[in-house]
Order: sequence, then structure tokens, then C-alpha cells
Amino acid sequence: MTETTTLYCYAHPTRETSLRCKRCDNPICTSCAVRMPTGYICKDCSRAHKKVFDTALWHDFVLGFVTAGILSALASFLVTLIGGIGFLGWFLILLGSPTAGTIIAEGVRLVTGRRRSRPLFLTVAAGVVLGVLPIVLLQLVTMNFFGILFQAIYLVIAVPLVYTRLSGIQLFR
Ligand SMILES: [Zn+2]
Ligand SMILES: [Zn+2]
Repeated sequence: MTETTTLYCYAHPTRETSLRCKRCDNPICTSCAVRMPTGYICKDCSRAHKKVFDTALWHDFVLGFVTAGILSALASFLVTLIGGIGFLGWFLILLGSPTAGTIIAEGVRLVTGRRRSRPLFLTVAAGVVLGVLPIVLLQLVTMNFFGILFQAIYLVIAVPLVYTRLSGIQLFR
């Protein structure tokens, strides 16, 4: 053995450490380490990683928005049908809205691939909200206020769910 195992942080040459960045193998001290599910990485790699995670293309916004809008419009239509059956409808909407949100999130992920960015998630959330507009407008005209309440319940459950589901696999920000 000619080499000792003592490492010094690549950013703080005076700090001894035993940690290495999982990606570039640089020795890192605890204040330079960024925690990842797979281990620790250095701040440079973390920054590079974040850039990779902000890769949405312009058509992702269009596709994500349209997909969210169409699926949400379908969900909104179902909510109206279910809401019409009475008391049981309340439960079905409460149970069904998370499922609708999940389907919307998966549908959006299908068309946008693994590309992601915060503005894209917000655009998708806007798509979910706008998807219910045709039915809500119709209900406004027909003064179906219970119907609008159902749509509101659906949105309150589905929108945060879609957003967190899409952004949730973002490991850190
Ligand atoms: Zn690194
Ligand atoms: Zn350091």
C-alpha cells in the first residue's frame, strides 16, 4: 500500500472526508454532499443533474396541455353523470377523483416522455382546470349549482394530485 485512504474535499482542500461523489468520484465533505436515493453526489453533479431534469420541449407543453384538457373533460363528464345518481355519487366522486388524477398524470407522462420542468407541470395543471370549463359553463347556464360543486370537488382533489404525481419523481429541487 503506497497510498493512504485519506481524502480531501474537492471544494474544501482542508477538510478530510471519506465520502466520494457517486457520479464523478470527487471526494466531497458533508457540506458539499447532496443526498440522492442512490447515495451522495457533489454540488456540480447536482447542478448538472437539475439541468437534465428541466428538459421539456415546446411541444411537451402543447401535448401535455391538450392531453390533460381532454382527459379532464372526460373526467368532468363522468363526474356530472355520477353526481346525478344522488347521495352515493358524493362517495363515488371522492373515490373516483384520485383515480382520474392518476390517469391524467399517466396520460401526460406518456405523451411528454420523461422530460420534465416546473412550468410544464403548471401548464398541465391549467389543462386539468380548463378541461372542466365546457361542462361548468353549461351548468352555469342551466343553473345546476350542485353540478358545479361536484366539478369543484373533482378539481380540488385531482389538480394537486396530477401536479405532485408529475413532479413527485423529481428527486430534489
Ligand atoms: Zn460529482
Ligand atoms: Zn466541501
